[in-house]
Amino acid sequence: MAAKIIDGNAIAKEMRQEIGAEVERLNKEHGITPGLATVLVGERPASQMYVRMKQRACEKIGIRSFGYSLPEGSTQEEVEGLIRELSANPEIHGILVQLPLPRHLDEERVLGSVALEKDVDGFHPINIGRLAMKGREPLFVPCTPYGCMVLLEKAGAQIEGAEAVVLGRSNIVGLPVSMLLLHANATVTICHSRSKDLPSICRRADILVAAVGRPEMVKGDWVKPGAYVIDVGSNKVEDPTAEKGYRWVGDVAFDEVKEVAGAITPSPGGVGPMTITMLLKNTLTAAQRSLSG
Ligand code: NDP
Repeated sequence: MAAKIIDGNAIAKEMRQEIGAEVERLNKEHGITPGLATVLVGERPASQMYVRMKQRACEKIGIRSFGYSLPEGSTQEEVEGLIRELSANPEIHGILVQLPLPRHLDEERVLGSVALEKDVDGFHPINIGRLAMKGREPLFVPCTPYGCMVLLEKAGAQIEGAEAVVLGRSNIVGLPVSMLLLHANATVTICHSRSKDLPSICRRADILVAAVGRPEMVKGDWVKPGAYVIDVGSNKVEDPTAEKGYRWVGDVAFDEVKEVAGAITPSPGGVGPMTITMLLKNTLTAAQRSLSG
């Protein structure tokens, strides 16, 4: 039987409406408008596009966005100085530093200079450290992994006690999603480029999360019948039959895998729309917490 398709667009749309309603309530009842500052260093076109998408999403639901662009050659002190200013600004509840930063900057120090209670991307070393520890709670969870967990929950996956396999161990996706699955009491296996015999490891998975950046790597015979498959991958591949000459595919061979899995996210249209949604949710949470702070 073909898998249930987990519709990230529909889930994200519904969540954004709920977040928008809460933003309005916060404003009416407490006179607070949640504010998100984006910090972009340099001129990478993809980063500029991601920042614009985040700003637009904020504005659509009533979150104020404050955009800061610094030149490529900015010093560590200049970047950290700006972040310290934003951390002290009461109109700003969340600070997002668009990654990757130019190579001469120390990413860990930059992320560490964001006020913990404004770290809506969840990349502050203390938040990541808490995520990695048993019995500790980070103030914020990184947005893409958070989105993966919401999709699993909305699709009705039983996470506790499940065998979960995560393909990829990056700081922004693979590692934090593994930690979240562990916090939710799954038994987690993390695979990477040096792992051996991926197909047989993947076949054990009740929950399979693919975040490798390899177009359609996960095949139908890698997947346990009935498994929940979350495809984080977003890869541009050439396609002469497409109008633009290319198309976007995930890390999972969707057409094959949907015949075996119990539920699967498409890519595009699965995890992608959830990432910005979770950023909006984290920004709202930061603003709500500021009431008691
Ligand atoms: P990275 O390149 O940072 O990490 C890729 C991970 O996959 C690494 O851990 C790497 O292993 C592992 N890997 C690479 N090749 C293989 C292989 N052949 N077999 C097993 N493991 C492999 O990527 P990201 O985590 O940043 O992104 C992963 C994918 O998710 C990309 O397609 C990206 O575009 C997408 N993405 C989507 C987002 C969204 O919002 N939808 C957000 C962020 C990313 P090793 O550690 O050994 O190098």
